[in-house]
Amino acid sequence: MFKGILVDKTEQDYNAEVKTLEEDVLINGDTLVRVSYSTLNYKDALAITGKSPVIRKFTMIPGIDLAGTVETCSTGKFNPGDEVLLNGFGVGEIQSGGLAQKALLKSDWLIPLPSALSAKQAMAIGTAGYTAMLCVMALEQHGIKPEVGEILVTGANGGVGSFAIAILAKLGYTVVASTGRVEESEYLKNLGATEVMDRSQLSQPGRPLAKERWAGVIDSVGSHTLVNACASTQYGGMVAACGLAQGMDLPGTVAPFILRGITLAGIDSVMRPIADRVEAWDRLANLLDADTLDKASKEISLTQAIDAAHDLIAGKIQGRIVIKMD
Ligand code: NDP
Repeated sequence: MFKGILVDKTEQDYNAEVKTLEEDVLINGDTLVRVSYSTLNYKDALAITGKSPVIRKFTMIPGIDLAGTVETCSTGKFNPGDEVLLNGFGVGEIQSGGLAQKALLKSDWLIPLPSALSAKQAMAIGTAGYTAMLCVMALEQHGIKPEVGEILVTGANGGVGSFAIAILAKLGYTVVASTGRVEESEYLKNLGATEVMDRSQLSQPGRPLAKERWAGVIDSVGSHTLVNACASTQYGGMVAACGLAQGMDLPGTVAPFILRGITLAGIDSVMRPIADRVEAWDRLANLLDADTLDKASKEISLTQAIDAAHDLIAGKIQGRIVIKMD
């Protein structure tokens, strides 16, 4: 028996509750993990509250991230006692997820927890930090070095945006943060932003080409913001697009691509191959110190997670929520 959040949907009702569950609710896996920490991403909050159709199979234990200890592994890839980490792969959407004391997973989805990180620290980073790292790796692979010029980070106060700023600053990049919450400029500058701009400068329809400014962009916002970011990227620069906080649309022109040779790179964290995950997490473990992670996260219990999900959707939460399973 173990405790977990169970989400159920009927024609009349959408319900999320902490329940005592039996192991036979866990199916389609070869590796049983005792979860020590999980986290609350925006996607998890959508799944718990039912605000968006994240869950594709009911009933479901939500939670796209988890860290814990292997109890059994029938493939032999991991040994009992190994500490592991999981992000995405449809977990918490079509496969029972991390917001429970146990999870049955495929060993091919798991990576070893980096030795420099505790399970709690890994969950303070979560999919948000891991996605930010993938975006930074994309800029590096495109040859954008710190000396090339300024990097724009949109959705700066969000999970992905905050980690993108912290990682870029640690690597020596000059970061300009775009936000709707300019009153949080101090927080963004403490993370490493050198300048903070109001997101309204980017969120309205703009011209096909604007003054060249950014060597690179990390965009978690989409829509007009992404289009304007492309239009103001320097010749040969790159824009890493990972999110849709403003919208899923892309109402722009091909001008930045065919006249300035800029590259628009799509970043997906969910189905990312294991080698990239291991590299991203090793880099995160080396770059982010314990103090930063402690300050950026708040620990709550599994029973508090449902209320926290509603608060997250209501925009009442700053920083990362880490969920202790005991
Ligand atoms: P958060 O909710 O933590 O942050 C999103 C931020 O976007 C907000 O804090 C806000 O930043 C900004 N924002 C919100 N609404 C608008 C708007 N209408 N117009 C412009 N900016 C807006 O989410 P995450 O950082 O966790 O995720 C960001 C996006 O990335 C989401 O769309 C998410 O689905 C996506 N994502 C994609 C992944 C992938 O694999 N591709 C993985 C993880 C996330 P501010 O207050 O500073 O303006």
